[in-house]
Amino acid sequence: MENLETLENQEIELTKTELQECDSHELACDNLTKAAMIAPEIQSIPAPIAAKNPEDWVTENFTWREFLHSQTAERLGLKNEPTASEKQNIQALAGWFEKLRALLAEKYGRIIPIRITSGFRSHAVNRAVGGAPTSAHRFGNAADIQAVGLSVKQLAYDIFEFIQSGKLPKLDQLIREMPRHGGQWVHIGLKNHNGAVRNQILLYEWKASAAKNAYISVAALKKVETNLA
Ligand SMILES: [Zn+2]
Repeated sequence: MENLETLENQEIELTKTELQECDSHELACDNLTKAAMIAPEIQSIPAPIAAKNPEDWVTENFTWREFLHSQTAERLGLKNEPTASEKQNIQALAGWFEKLRALLAEKYGRIIPIRITSGFRSHAVNRAVGGAPTSAHRFGNAADIQAVGLSVKQLAYDIFEFIQSGKLPKLDQLIREMPRHGGQWVHIGLKNHNGAVRNQILLYEWKASAAKNAYISVAALKKVETNLA
């Protein structure tokens, strides 16, 4: 991976608070599916859950709120609204997540809900969290995720394998974030701010030799994983 040092400024480390920003729409959706599978006589009872409002949903299983919710924005009263083109980026990202969701369901034989722990950041929100101006989150090209019932390590490797086998389109960046230091999520970046897809597989972790957090390329990632095992 060339020029790793310069990558450091492209992405900020998220706070633990931001890590907990995920919401429960995905789980609510799965409960809705279960409700639809129960016996017909029970189905005839009006469901307590309100019908889906199409405007709330980016795709079948992901809501706009999941991509736009930000505790920082809420706390500081900042708007986190995407422009029309940023909305298109988020739609592309949600489409990619739908493919991932289907592949995980196929592999594990059950629905593996995907939690978005951090999605889009408007200019104001990005500034408030100290994000780089070129962060892929800034333009709706990236989101950080977890998968219910899977370790972050397993999720990162499943995604890696799906890409390697051509089941999922290549990403600009797949980053396993900070496994040794409490950061437990996978960063999925579809393209960078210039529209490039660089196919970078990275680990963001403490780099002892540099005495700071740094991106480590996939070759080093395998070494680090061996050490973690
Ligand atoms: Zn990220």
